[in-house]
Amino acid sequence: MKRTDSQPVTFNAVPLAELAPAKINLALHVTGRRADGYHLLESLVVFAEFGDRIAVSSAARDSFLVEGRFARDVPLTNDNLVLRARDMLRAAYPAHPTSPVSIALEKNLPVASGIGGGSSDAAATLRALVRLWRIPVDVVTLARLALPLGADLPMCVAARPLVARGIGEQLEPVERLPALPIVLVNPGVPVETPSVFRALASRDNPPLAPLSDTTAVRDWLTATRNDLEPPAISIEPLVGDALAALRGAGASFVRMSGSGATCFGIFDDSATAARAAEAIAGERPRWFSTATRTLA
Ligand code: ATP
Repeated sequence: MKRTDSQPVTFNAVPLAELAPAKINLALHVTGRRADGYHLLESLVVFAEFGDRIAVSSAARDSFLVEGRFARDVPLTNDNLVLRARDMLRAAYPAHPTSPVSIALEKNLPVASGIGGGSSDAAATLRALVRLWRIPVDVVTLARLALPLGADLPMCVAARPLVARGIGEQLEPVERLPALPIVLVNPGVPVETPSVFRALASRDNPPLAPLSDTTAVRDWLTATRNDLEPPAISIEPLVGDALAALRGAGASFVRMSGSGATCFGIFDDSATAARAAEAIAGERPRWFSTATRTLA
């Protein structure tokens, strides 16, 4: 049957799923502060194979369901970034037909933990709804539309290795970065980003050195920093314990991601990473510990 513009669009009732990968700041330099109070950053950002999951399908009315290990920590109000993403997309395309939608979030990432769970959920929601509603929008436009939802939204829409500058919205893709076997460890305490920035001693720090040889990223990292790590440890000493646990389990490089408290360790191979994650989980059953790989 031929469809004309006057006929209603039929939407997919089969759920469309999108991964909301964990965002990992392999390096994060705070290089200044804007007049409006936003901090200027330079960060090498990668995403993990592990993350939350978003599923969307057409329905009789809008609904939102959250399940998974960290579901109880997710706000169910309209502040939730998933719902804000849905509403933003509808508002951005008022003439485009958009069905009521049922959205399910499987919350596998600890909340307020420096791995961008909320931002990545919002970005995955946008990717899923663009497919469901067949909105003709490219990734660059979608990233720009998403920025008002948060400075980390554009990078999470891109969801690939990149260097982020400005307040996080200026993105430079990094080609040929190898997939790194890593372990993510969170000591089970939320750390709110604003308090970590308040505890930061210096806001004017040296920028990232250029990453000219991506195959030597591991060596390059040793000359970089996460400037938010010392203030986060001063607020929450368990961050130091998480770093020590990763080191003790054989990581060749350890660091905190974002404003914490999640830390990552880089391992030589996936089998060693899997054993390390299990060992840490065995010793600290209340912590979150998982082996994964960064998306190349
Ligand atoms: P970032 O690294 O971008 O600072 P984060 O990992 O530290 O992010 P999130 O897990 O995104 O932090 O949570 C930050 C805040 O966002 C929390 O206080 C939480 O209440 C709120 N929030 C809104 N929507 C969500 C969501 N879908 N998942 C998790 N948190 C959400």
